[in-house]
Amino acid sequence: MAARIVTFVNQKGGVGKTTTAVSIAAALGRRGQRVLLVDLDPQANATSAAGVDPTVDRPGVYEALLDEISPADCVVPVPDEQIDVVPASTALAGAEVELVPVMARERRLSNALNALRDRYDWIFIDCPPSLGLLTINALTSSDNVVIPVQCEYMALEGLSRLMQTLDLVRRNLNPGLAILGVVLTMYDPRTRLSQQVVDEVRTHFPQTFQTIIPRAVRLSEAPSHGQSIFRYDPGGRAAVAYDALAGEMLARVGVAV
Ligand code: ADP
Ligand code: MG
Repeated sequence: MAARIVTFVNQKGGVGKTTTAVSIAAALGRRGQRVLLVDLDPQANATSAAGVDPTVDRPGVYEALLDEISPADCVVPVPDEQIDVVPASTALAGAEVELVPVMARERRLSNALNALRDRYDWIFIDCPPSLGLLTINALTSSDNVVIPVQCEYMALEGLSRLMQTLDLVRRNLNPGLAILGVVLTMYDPRTRLSQQVVDEVRTHFPQTFQTIIPRAVRLSEAPSHGQSIFRYDPGGRAAVAYDALAGEMLARVGVAV
């Protein structure tokens, strides 16, 4: 069966997109699912968090989008996390502009990923914090989106614009695009604000996952070691939460857990 393609999207930065994409990818890898993580953010945070050095000169997502390099040649295996990665590099920053005059510019990523779809159960795309052409490429490629929302003041800010963008993509490029769920991240049980945000987000988005990701220092430390939370702090509460979230995702798409 062809991979389900999921984009982690929220045009706000720092809400936990990359952390969530990398952590669920690693959780599913450990559960025996075949996972490809595609880093579409020129900051390359997902690439380095997965233990792949983004400064090494090799083909990555930029080349898959803009050069006629075979997507399969852009895949880097990460045996320690039992996942594969298509890395980002700083060149990707130029892609937003370089794609503009390209034929079928919104479908470049979709075409590239189609060539890889049969090899995986899941393809995850980590997005930059914008709704530009790279994010549109991700949404055009995807079956689903997962929307991380930080349990902070103004959590819902920007989400109505994101919903409009999803509608536009559905109407013009990808009618099947569906929200798989909203993930509440960086929850701090000591603050009343966190609980308020949980209630507010659940009211607006009934698709919000039950599992809430706690604020955990270990999660912010793991990327600098190039390790997922399952290697950096196995059994810690962040690892437990992300594994539960992965289980919830599998259940939602009907994979027996
Ligand atoms: P985004 O990709 O949306 O910009 P990140 O996943 O990079 O967000 O997270 C922003 C910052 O917060 C990073 O430094 C990350 O390590 C940290 N972080 C993410 N989730 C948590 C969490 N649950 N607890 C503590 N720190 C977190
Ligand atoms: Mg990010």
